[in-house]
Amino acid sequence: MSDLQPGAHGEAGLTRGAVDLQRYTHSLMGTYGVPMRVLARGEGSWVWDADGNRYLDLLGGIAVNALGHAHPAWVAAIAHQAATLAQASNFFATEPQIRLAERLLDLAQAPPGSRVFFANSGTEANEAAFKMARRTGKGTIIALEHGFHGRSMGALSMTAKEAIRAPFAPLLERVIFVEPTDEAALRAAVAEAADDLAAIILEPIQGEAGVRPVPHAFIAAARELTLRHHALLIMDEIQTGVARTGAWFAHQLGGIRPDVMTLAKGLGGGFPIGAVVAFGETAGALLTKGDHGTTFGGNALAAAAALATLDVIESEDLLANAKAVGEHLRTSLEAIDGVVEVRGEGLMLGIGLAHPAAATIAAAAVEAGFIVNPPSPDTIRLVPALTLTRPEADLFIAWMAEHGARLITEGSA
Ligand SMILES: *Cc1c(COP(=O)(O)O)cnc(C)c1O
Repeated sequence: MSDLQPGAHGEAGLTRGAVDLQRYTHSLMGTYGVPMRVLARGEGSWVWDADGNRYLDLLGGIAVNALGHAHPAWVAAIAHQAATLAQASNFFATEPQIRLAERLLDLAQAPPGSRVFFANSGTEANEAAFKMARRTGKGTIIALEHGFHGRSMGALSMTAKEAIRAPFAPLLERVIFVEPTDEAALRAAVAEAADDLAAIILEPIQGEAGVRPVPHAFIAAARELTLRHHALLIMDEIQTGVARTGAWFAHQLGGIRPDVMTLAKGLGGGFPIGAVVAFGETAGALLTKGDHGTTFGGNALAAAAALATLDVIESEDLLANAKAVGEHLRTSLEAIDGVVEVRGEGLMLGIGLAHPAAATIAAAAVEAGFIVNPPSPDTIRLVPALTLTRPEADLFIAWMAEHGARLITEGSA
């Protein structure tokens, strides 16, 4: 924490948070613009900023802090593992990483031959999936419009959004984008790829697009087409996975299993870790010795954090909590004037607004002590801790009823 000496960094009279933000903009790259606040600590679903103001955190580090902030079991597991063995390199195995792989295969009800690869982030998990697609010996990938798979060059190549792609062209070739509602376009793309179709990649619920579920029929078509063409169906569950939707993995809700699933965000409960789960013998054997690697991937410390996260999700029955509190948020928010619909499942919700007032509402919310996020001009996204309680949810519902409705209407002006 900084020692605030008024006048030392900023002008006298600036708050500690304001001084810290000045220091931030003078020392960090501008990739995120100017952050909203400087946060100092958290507990459960609450965070405090550098000036001591308290906020109800309904963003959860972007669907990451599954257990909320500083959950005692998670803190203890990390402290214990740090004091035991943190990093060993992948020339060596550690028991926590083995246990975590077994646990993920078990939770995913993966058949014999299934295998896990550990990475450190979402984009890295998708890079591994991309390399698995290349190991089929074919080169074309079909991805969805409005999808998001990360910022590294392979993952970005599968991400449609022009604004974040264009500055970095040329990207990897042979990616065809189709609208997630257009099954005919999907079939046309598969025909275009012909013998070269390596994979179809999709998020079961598109997160960054504003929490937009991909229609079940479309996913069913993708499953059928990939089977028929011996291509991989890759589900990016980086945001939807690990109990976020009230199921361990979102694909379990629809009952359609992919060949490859990527995970990150909620898996470590705030500790960076990513994972790829390859289902079955064929996918499980695509990457072999020398094909891929990472120095940190799946180290004992990250694995211990993830195991603690999974343990608490189970012991505190957070799947049920995500379902119940999510449903309560949905029905309550849907009743508010100016809210058109609430999309998503469990505690991954997109509040669809009648007017493009999301940025205004998010800014007003933070002033009022609520952290929410506007992924698109007419959507407020809620991806809070899975431990969020109903009384906590009610605080935001009451604020939305009192102020949100008015702000949405003003947004039409
Ligand atoms: C966040 C996200 C990613 C990228 O994860 P990073 O850890 O930021 O690299 C990829 N796919 C989806 C669906 C995401 O939500």
